[in-house]
Amino acid sequence: MRLVLLGPPGAGKGTQAADLCRRFGVPHISTGDMLRESVKAGTEVGKKAQSYMEAGKLVPDAVMIGVIEERFSRGDGSRGFVLDGFPRTVGQAEALESLLARLGLPIQRVISFSASDETIVERIAGRRTCPACQTPYHARFQPPRKAGVCDRDGEELAQRPDDREEKVRERLRAYRDQTAPLVPYYEKRGLLRGVSAEASPDEVFRAVEKVLTALA
Ligand code: AMP
Repeated sequence: MRLVLLGPPGAGKGTQAADLCRRFGVPHISTGDMLRESVKAGTEVGKKAQSYMEAGKLVPDAVMIGVIEERFSRGDGSRGFVLDGFPRTVGQAEALESLLARLGLPIQRVISFSASDETIVERIAGRRTCPACQTPYHARFQPPRKAGVCDRDGEELAQRPDDREEKVRERLRAYRDQTAPLVPYYEKRGLLRGVSAEASPDEVFRAVEKVLTALA
């Protein structure tokens, strides 16, 4: 199970990736989560990434390719993986392709989630995350047992600073200009499957399972 999840912010990539990784026992590689941790820890990568993230812009390819190479050097990718938020540019996709070819772990499927702008705005407005374990919640679609508190560790849930409306608009622009070209890129390679992300997380998960059955 070696997957890439593509889609605009708010499409539910993080939620689906976490569910898929639990189901298939493979690592969840979220570059957004990794960068947020690096910013929190004040590492060199965190310092380079912070201003781009705060502005809702993409972190430069050179930084991101270093991050992903370092992540794959841990070796657990041989069990399979779900990439969530990487690649986001054609340059990143090309670097990933050669890295995974070197490792003998080529991508088997790319799932492209689609959602309307209204859905994205509604999803992001209600989205909250545990600052400690990064578990995602949604006030309406995926509420925690106790309002405002993480089910796993009792931490107070927070809104990501880049989930504010004007930042979301910038992130959507980055998606359309820099990430959407990956749809024809992976289509050409016969790897792409489209899934509508408009339905509930459970229904989307079932649709994802359907497009993965050929791989099982
Ligand atoms: P995410 O949690 O995936 O929405 O990522 C949050 C932010 O981290 C993005 O808006 C970008 O600033 C940055 N980021 C995460 N992954 C990448 C990537 N592959 N390329 C460039 N920037 C990224």
